[in-house]
Amino acid sequence: MAVAKNTKNVAGRWHNIETIVKSVQDPKTFKQNIMQAAEVIKSGGLVAFPTETVYGLGANALDNEAAGKIYFAKGRPADNPLIVHIDKNFDIERIARDVPAGARLLMDAFWPGPLTLVLKSRAGVFSYGHMDTVALRMPKHLKAQLLIHHSGVPIAAPSANISGRPSPTTADHVLADLGGKIDMILDDGACQHGVESTVIDFSESTPKLLRPGSITLKMIENAIGKVAVAALNGEEITPKSPGTKYRHYSPKGKLTLVIGEPQISSAKILEMLQNSTSKSPIILAPTANKDLYANVPFIGLGRRDEEIAANIYAVLRRCDDDEHDEIFVQGVEEKELGVAIMNRLKKAAGANVLEV
Ligand code: AMP
Ligand code: MG
Repeated sequence: MAVAKNTKNVAGRWHNIETIVKSVQDPKTFKQNIMQAAEVIKSGGLVAFPTETVYGLGANALDNEAAGKIYFAKGRPADNPLIVHIDKNFDIERIARDVPAGARLLMDAFWPGPLTLVLKSRAGVFSYGHMDTVALRMPKHLKAQLLIHHSGVPIAAPSANISGRPSPTTADHVLADLGGKIDMILDDGACQHGVESTVIDFSESTPKLLRPGSITLKMIENAIGKVAVAALNGEEITPKSPGTKYRHYSPKGKLTLVIGEPQISSAKILEMLQNSTSKSPIILAPTANKDLYANVPFIGLGRRDEEIAANIYAVLRRCDDDEHDEIFVQGVEEKELGVAIMNRLKKAAGANVLEV
């Protein structure tokens, strides 16, 4: 597989890295490939690996120099902290303190799984991102668990994309963004959920949802009662989760999100399409609404919200590959998993959100 060349390393010198891509789909060889990846993590390198949400870009969380390489490879702003991925044997008291009962209840209910908990951290553990809190997640994905287990350390991992681009849900997406910049990619095909983990902050007196995901607010509140919700959309800066303030998930083409009843929003999209001067426009909408878009360029996002969440980043990347310079997206209903889908779409759209 071809890899990009000429990337700078953390010390600022130009450097070529050969990115090794190994499949972990073959039952005969996956363990051996994961062991090789664990050696890369132990020696301070970067490994992209599959999780049940999106592909993560991992480094030894306890090695600040290794974690620093993640920021360099992704072009990630230095004030945006990393989620630390742990396995079931890890004693969280080593890095977190004053863990509240509500957080323990959520760990029992949803770990391993797509849920990240922000906790107060022990002093001096990390020198990147936040100093006083740590975001912890125990992934459910077997290969991710094995990688963490064999590395013998917690793994700091944001999504394995260039900052601002749609998150990666296949190894090819990772290779397209980070080939030549990272040591290894473990390929396990497409990710199951497609949207990143739900993030709940427990570092202050009341728990707060910082990022919606496939563990929905309703599921969280069923387990621990009322939870506050951070301003999830729009331009407002949420200081607790710096990642939420940056442009995110965006394809290269101009993306406009239209929100409203299917009949009304589709009519608006068709009108905008008619008036568009774009060379190669495309409409993205729930597959169930296909009949509303006869004879226009259309990609169905999926039938159910689970399918739409799993497909959304791949479809946005396909829009780039096919050089669509204008993208109209018909939103989904903002309930349950639809909240997470719309959160990502609003960020991809930036200011171009229209309610009809
Ligand atoms: P990603 O870069 O896709 O892995 O997203 C990680 C998200 O978790 C970002 O929005 C981060 O800002 C957020 N996050 C990570 N660590 C913390 C923390 N200690 N406190 C608050 N948010 C955090
Ligand atoms: Mg990300």
